[in-house]
Formats: sequence, structure tokens, C-alpha cells
Amino acid sequence: SIVVTGATGHLGRHVVEQLLEKVPADQITAVVRNAEKAADFAARGVKIALADYNAPASFDGLFAAGDKVLLISGNEFDKGRVQQHKIVIDAAKAAGVALLAYTSAPGSLTAALADDHRGTEEALLASGVPYALLRNGWYHENYTENLAPVLEHNAVVAAAGDGRVSSAARADYAAAAVAVLTGEGHENQTYELGGDEAWGFAEYAAELSRQTGKEIGYSPVSVEALTGILVGAGLPEPVAATIAGVDASIEKGELVVTTGDLSRLAGRPTTPLSEAIALALKG
Ligand code: NDP
Repeated sequence: SIVVTGATGHLGRHVVEQLLEKVPADQITAVVRNAEKAADFAARGVKIALADYNAPASFDGLFAAGDKVLLISGNEFDKGRVQQHKIVIDAAKAAGVALLAYTSAPGSLTAALADDHRGTEEALLASGVPYALLRNGWYHENYTENLAPVLEHNAVVAAAGDGRVSSAARADYAAAAVAVLTGEGHENQTYELGGDEAWGFAEYAAELSRQTGKEIGYSPVSVEALTGILVGAGLPEPVAATIAGVDASIEKGELVVTTGDLSRLAGRPTTPLSEAIALALKG
């Protein structure tokens, strides 16, 4: 079977949807914490397995020899994600899966956010399980799903200077994952995944202006100022600092990806940022 963890998350949903276009539903297992959230998948014949990264026993016997597994990284930053992911890696090893693909972060990313991904990659390589590292770059949606303050103040605020980002749509990263899960020859490969076109925040503001008819500018701020703004908006300080830290990495060029791996795996160009903006503005 093809087994997808985090299947009811944003990325996981795209992966399962795209898998359903390629393989029979009964060959797909969605690993979820909450079966209700996966009721639509179950209704279409996808197998549902209940498991939690915090509960090692919930993964006992979940995988079978020969399975191809996609481990989608978790989002519980305060719960020790490396340990959580190790539970999945150990279960995959015990079962003798054919492939364990992991959604990681770009190899060039030094921001604190990348630490859990590096730790998980090390655990996966040390396990001896055939792996595929899907080093996902940034999502368009990180920006386009957070337009409310931008449209309220007519300003894109970031601490990235003139830095550029090779973002792509979640659906693009899902397409790459599906290619790896359904194709051959991906064992022990590392893919650096990002959008075909890198963009800067001034360009992002200009595209927003074009599509909204408003005058939206880019306000570059310091990492400290952005942290303060995010705390003011209600984020806990450590989370705010982590997010602002990513902008520092962007300024240094750490989220520019030039490999072309994403469009090559997806078999098509990546989604332009302008398209993701248009979709978000439609609501
Ligand atoms: P989501 O937050 O939408 O999905 C996270 C998924 O992880 C959910 O399905 C969630 O389950 C599952 N999960 C979290 N904790 C556990 C747990 N303890 N046990 C089992 N499952 C768990 O994120 P996305 O789908 O958008 O992105 C996928 C991952 O990529 C994120 O979790 C994060 O690691 C990373 N990411 C990457 C970004 C990028 O730009 N490249 C941006 C943001 C995150 P449930 O559905 O039950 O909540």
C-alpha cells in the first residue's frame, strides 16, 4: 500500500486527492488522529488508520513489508518533533517498508525551524530504511493565506530585505510526493524542491497592487521589529521569533531553490505566485 501520515492536514489532503487520481483507493491508507476528519476519504474507499506521533503503540503493525510511506512532518513544535517522527521511522523499519519519504526543509535553510528536519533526516538515514528526502521549500500559501493584515494596512511587512523565495503551491509539493510514492527509482534520493520562479517582497506587493487595484507597498523591517509585530498580533514570543527568523534566512537567500527538482518530479511547471494570489483573493 501507499501510506500517508498527516493525511488530514493541508498538504496531506492534496496528496491523498492526487493519489486517488493515480491508484485504486483501496491501495491508499490515510494515517489520521481523528477519523471524523477523514470521513470523506473513507467514503471514497481510502483505508483509514488511527495513529498519533505521541503514542508509539498506535503505530504497531500499521505498516506492512513493501509499503511506500509518506511521513508528513508534524506541527506540534513544542512536543519534540524529532522524537515524534522517530516513532514513525522505527515502525517503518520494523515492518520492512520499501520506501519512507519525509517532507523536510531545504538543505540551505539554517533558521531554527530547520533543526527538527535535520534531526529527522539524521534519524532516517541512520535507520537504514530506504528513504526519499522531499526537502520542501516554502508554500505560496504561507503568504496568500495571510492577506488580511496586508489588505488592511496596504502593506507587505517582512524582515527579508531584498531576499527572494522560491515558493510553490502545496499542490505542487503534493504532486512531487505522489510522483515519488507511485514511481520507481527514488530510493535514497534527496530532492531540493521549490518553485520555478523566485520572487521578492517588493514584487509580491506589486502583484497584489495589480490584482486588487490598491496601492500596496513593501515595508521592510528588522527581525526584531517583525517579532514585535507578530507578538502584538497575538503570537507567542518564541513562535514569533521563529517566523521572523525565517525572514532573516530569506534575506540570505536560503529559500531560493534552483534545482528544478519540483517541476521535474511534478512533470509540469510549478504554480505561479500570481495564481495563488488570485485564488486567495477570490476567497
Ligand atoms: P498542517 O498543519 O495542515 O498539517 C499537519 C498535519 O500533521 C495534520 O494532518 C496533523 O493532524 C498532523 N499531526 C500533527 N501532530 C500530529 C501527531 N501528534 N500525530 C499525528 N499527526 C499529527 O500542515 P501542512 O499540511 O500545511 O504542512 C505539512 C507540514 O509541513 C507541517 O506539519 C509542517 O511540519 C511543515 N510546514 C511546511 C511549510 C512550508 O512552507 N514548507 C509551512 C508550514 C508547515 P490533524 O489533521 O489531526 O491536525
